[in-house]
Amino acid sequence: MNLAAWLTRAAQSFPDLPAVARGTAPLLTYHQLGDNAARLAGALRHRLGLAEDDRVAIVSKNTPEYIEILYGIWQAGLIAVPINAKLHGAEIGWILEHSGCKALFAGPDLETTLEAHRPDNLQHLVPIGSSDYKALLSADPLPVVARRPDDLAWLFYTSGTTGRPKGAMLTHRNLAAATYGYLIDVDPTAPGDCLVHGAPMSHGSGIYIMGTIARCGLNVVPESGGFYPAELFAIAAHWRNASLFAAPTMIKRLTEHPGDADPTALRTIVWGGAPMHVADTERALDRFGPCFAQIYGQGETPMTATVLSKAVIADRTHPRWRERLGSAGITNVAAEVRIGDADGRPLSTGETGEIMVRGDTVMAGYWTDKAASAAAIRDGWLYTGDVGAVDADGFLTLKDRSKDVIISGGSNIYPREVEEVLLRHPAVREVSVIGRPDPDWGEIVVAYIAGNAAPEELDALCRDSIARFKRPKDYVLTDALPKNNYGKILKTELRDRDRSKIETTPEDEST
Ligand code: AMP
Repeated sequence: MNLAAWLTRAAQSFPDLPAVARGTAPLLTYHQLGDNAARLAGALRHRLGLAEDDRVAIVSKNTPEYIEILYGIWQAGLIAVPINAKLHGAEIGWILEHSGCKALFAGPDLETTLEAHRPDNLQHLVPIGSSDYKALLSADPLPVVARRPDDLAWLFYTSGTTGRPKGAMLTHRNLAAATYGYLIDVDPTAPGDCLVHGAPMSHGSGIYIMGTIARCGLNVVPESGGFYPAELFAIAAHWRNASLFAAPTMIKRLTEHPGDADPTALRTIVWGGAPMHVADTERALDRFGPCFAQIYGQGETPMTATVLSKAVIADRTHPRWRERLGSAGITNVAAEVRIGDADGRPLSTGETGEIMVRGDTVMAGYWTDKAASAAAIRDGWLYTGDVGAVDADGFLTLKDRSKDVIISGGSNIYPREVEEVLLRHPAVREVSVIGRPDPDWGEIVVAYIAGNAAPEELDALCRDSIARFKRPKDYVLTDALPKNNYGKILKTELRDRDRSKIETTPEDEST
């Protein structure tokens, strides 16, 4: 099974349906998309001389060509390496070298930067939309090359909230399972429905392209190639039945955007990738209505371990509605989830431990990293590094990443719980809670706050809702929190920043 077969099927049976649009303008029908992908596949194999399983990178902000390139790579039996275009040139160069890419499709304005960091293994750099690119589209089409389910399709470089990125090896089976999980549990899609790529196609949004193609839907790439609420609202109003994947920080931007938005044009807004605080979810629901679904997963089990469905999020009458909004939902149909102790033995309902995932979505391992692969997948279970608990109804609540847990005076404190409370203060825009080394307590709880709330008021909020030992001992007000290019708050960097702040604070000021 080759994922590209779904495109061939659509092109053959529904050639005239619209497949790709740029903003509000239709760009390619399924026939044209299928033809472009087949010609790119032919060019990659017979003009650029690539062999099965060679790696081909895409580094570009969102652009309609992303889709034909991805499918061209798969159709040719090659492995795609989509890379976040917002990374530094040196970081991209490192991934290109690590993955041994032979060819690279580079987005607008990136050619010079990428040339400067080009590793020796990279034989071809093709600027997307250039005359070289257009020439590739005139190659003879190549029919879909046969793939086994365990052949690799996508090297998904993790976004690096921890150390160097690692290349999660995603197979055709993994991506097919992720697609079934999406179409069944997250966002059932019908022919003609559209998916708007406001979030990076190198990450979550890209993983959803396959579901849209499997159902002959329309992939829409905003003209800006980025995430601008006014543009996204206009696109949704034009095409209607629109779905969108967004990180929680992006959902906040949508909610806070002052302009008009027609909620009836939005079919589904899926959030995931980072915790969304309950107060933010409620605000989003008030503005856009019941169109939200949440997924929890990671590059290692693409997008899908659990899902909080639109129906559950919309059911305000449920006695545990608010509690459920704070959860990551129930196990996705495509996966198995377990909470394990340090040895991976299953824990009981309500007990907190490491979240483990098994099933067809779980990656084959990390590219050229046997040690990391063996540590991540043991006895068929993926150890996610996330910590959580499952309640009696099967809802998973994420506490934190295991290394983010704060241990103060022997008690475990999960930052998320404290953050939820602090975010209730109207003057808190964003918050991140970390542990600071302390000679007496091991660690103390410290809250970094973007916003201008008074520490006494924050402390009063905590006193009202959480145990004394969880209350921050220090509130640090700041303009902005450090984030990676996907909008995730970098606790590692915040801890480093905090450590250097403490080390450079003179004695007399700190007392
Ligand atoms: P990535 O592989 O870059 O998608 O990052 C995956 C990590 O993001 C997970 O291991 C979690 O720590 C975090 N994450 C993903 N989805 C959620 C979610 N719905 N809520 C909270 N954290 C999440």
